[in-house]
Amino acid sequence: MITPLALGLVFSGAIIQLIALLPIRQLIASLPPGPLRSRWYAMLAMIVLFFVGYLAYANVFWGNHSKPIDLIVPAIFFLGACFVWLTATLSLQTMSDVMRITLLERETITDSLTGLFNRRYLDRRLNEDIATAHRYSLPLSIMMIDIDHFKPVNDQFGHQAGDRALVSLGEIISETVRESDYVARYGGEEFLVVAPYTPLPDATGLSERLRKQVELAAFKLPDVPDEIRLTVSIGVASLGQDVDNIERLVHVADDNLYRAKAAGRNRVVNGMPDA
Ligand code: GH3
Ligand code: MG
Ligand code: MG
Repeated sequence: MITPLALGLVFSGAIIQLIALLPIRQLIASLPPGPLRSRWYAMLAMIVLFFVGYLAYANVFWGNHSKPIDLIVPAIFFLGACFVWLTATLSLQTMSDVMRITLLERETITDSLTGLFNRRYLDRRLNEDIATAHRYSLPLSIMMIDIDHFKPVNDQFGHQAGDRALVSLGEIISETVRESDYVARYGGEEFLVVAPYTPLPDATGLSERLRKQVELAAFKLPDVPDEIRLTVSIGVASLGQDVDNIERLVHVADDNLYRAKAAGRNRVVNGMPDA
C-alpha cells in the first residue's frame, strides 16, 4: 500500500511539473526579450530539471517505501510540484491582469485617432503642473495650435484624408517639441502643447520652429495623388501675474490664436493680456 502511494505521489508530482510548463510558456511568449524573459526561461529549465529529478528518484528508490514515514519525501515532492504549478498560473493571471489595466489606463488618457493625450488627461496634468510651477516659482507655457483652412481639406479630399492629416500633424508636433513637453489633442483640429519650465520667449521660439516645420512638411493623404501642404496658427501663453490658473492660461492662448488667425494665419502670436 505504501509503495504505490509513494510512487503515485512522485509521478503525479512529475506530471504537475509538466503541466506547469504551459502557463510559463504562455508567459514567456507575451514578454519582450530582456532580463525578465530570461529569468522565466531559467524557471522553465529548472522545472524540466525537477521533472528529471522526480523520475530519477522514482527509479533509484523503487520498492524502498515500506513505512508511512517513507511517504514524507514523496509528499514533499508532490506539494512542491503543486507549489510550482500554482506559482506559474498565478503569475500568468497577474501579468494578464496588469496588461489589461495598463491598456485600459492608456485608453482613458489618449485620443483614439492621433494617439496623443486627450483633453481629460490634459486638464488634470496641466492643473498639477500649474500648481507645481506656482509652488517653486517656475515658468510654464502653453501653445494652442490650430490648422489653417482645414475645412476645405475635408471638403476636397474627404474626412478620412482629413483624419490622416491630423495624425501626421500630431506626429510632427510630437517630434518637434522637447522631451519635457507634452502634446494633447484639444479639439477637432486643435492641439495643445504644454511646455513646463519654459518662459514666454523660449515657448515663442519653439512655436516658431514648429510653425516652420509644418510649413515645410508634405502631407501624403490616402487616395490623394499629390502631397498637400498645411499651415498652422499658434497662440502662446505663459503663467504670469494675471495668468495664474488653467482657465486664464487657455483663455490667453486662445485669444492669441484668434489674433494669429485675424492677422493672416500661418503665424505665432504671444501677446500678454491687457492688465
Ligand atoms: P481656420 O483657418 O479659421 O481655422 O479655418 P478652418 O477651416 O480650419 O476652421 P473651422 O473651425 O472653420 O473648421 C475646422 C474644421 O476641422 C471643421 C472640420 O471639417 C474639421 N475637423 C474637425 N475635427 C475633425 C476630425 O476629427 N477629423 C477631420 N477629418 N476633420 C475634422
Ligand atoms: Mg479650429
Ligand atoms: Mg482651423
